[in-house]
Amino acid sequence: MVKFVDSKFVKKISEITHESYTDGWDERNGGNISLRIDAVDLKDFEDVKDIKKTLALGFNASPLAGEYFLVTGTGRYFRNVINQSTLDLGLVQITDDGQKAKLLWGFEDGGLPTSEFPSHLMTHIERLKIDPTQRVVMHCHPTNLIALSFTQELDEAQISRLLWKMQAESLVVFPEGIGVIPYMTPGTTDIGRATATKMQDFRVVMWPHHGIFGVGADLDETFGLIETVEKAATIYSQIGAQGGKIKQSITDNQLRELAAAFNVTANPKFL
Ligand code: 13P
Ligand code: ZN
Repeated sequence: MVKFVDSKFVKKISEITHESYTDGWDERNGGNISLRIDAVDLKDFEDVKDIKKTLALGFNASPLAGEYFLVTGTGRYFRNVINQSTLDLGLVQITDDGQKAKLLWGFEDGGLPTSEFPSHLMTHIERLKIDPTQRVVMHCHPTNLIALSFTQELDEAQISRLLWKMQAESLVVFPEGIGVIPYMTPGTTDIGRATATKMQDFRVVMWPHHGIFGVGADLDETFGLIETVEKAATIYSQIGAQGGKIKQSITDNQLRELAAAFNVTANPKFL
């Protein structure tokens, strides 16, 4: 029998939280991650069988009844997860009625799931309706993308096109573009609902003046998606630092050729 702390799940989430912190996207307790894990992948761990406590979710998560999530704790620092994962991470299972989460492992010093857990779970629910491979929700505070929410209209078409044109990689990685919600109070079920609704059409959603939500089938893919968005925003910032005058960039036709070459479909509302 193996201990869950030694699992590939804890190892990988620790790596990604540390990487995201190193990139400067998770000051203090900024950011949170949830990873959906199949029951079959937990069966060999001796220390995930007992219910340590039961936590109210504050909304009905019944479409996820019985599902297991490894989730970062509220108030916990991404930079610490790698060295104290049994404190800063928790493994929970959603109850049959969808109202609560059973804590099976972690949060050993009394921690609780992220305050954004409603946004995470609502997003998992929406994404699973259209993508059965959906496993990860990641939220963080990438500096250059946040900066865009001050200098650009909060318009999905405009921001998506700007990000697409900053580098050839963008359109290939997020051909549907980026969703944008209005500024809203974090940690609420309202921002959760707004985010999850956007996730019906996008895999990345900008939270203006705050950060980003990204989803994917695994931690590498989700992190890579956020990295690509932030890289495009960083290039835009650097253009500003070089004087801000754009002399040439990728044209709409070149974007169409790129989409054809990489066999992706650009969001027809934006291109
Ligand atoms: P938590 O510490 O509750 O995860 O919150 C961090 C955050 O980024 C809120 O949006
Ligand atoms: Zn945040």
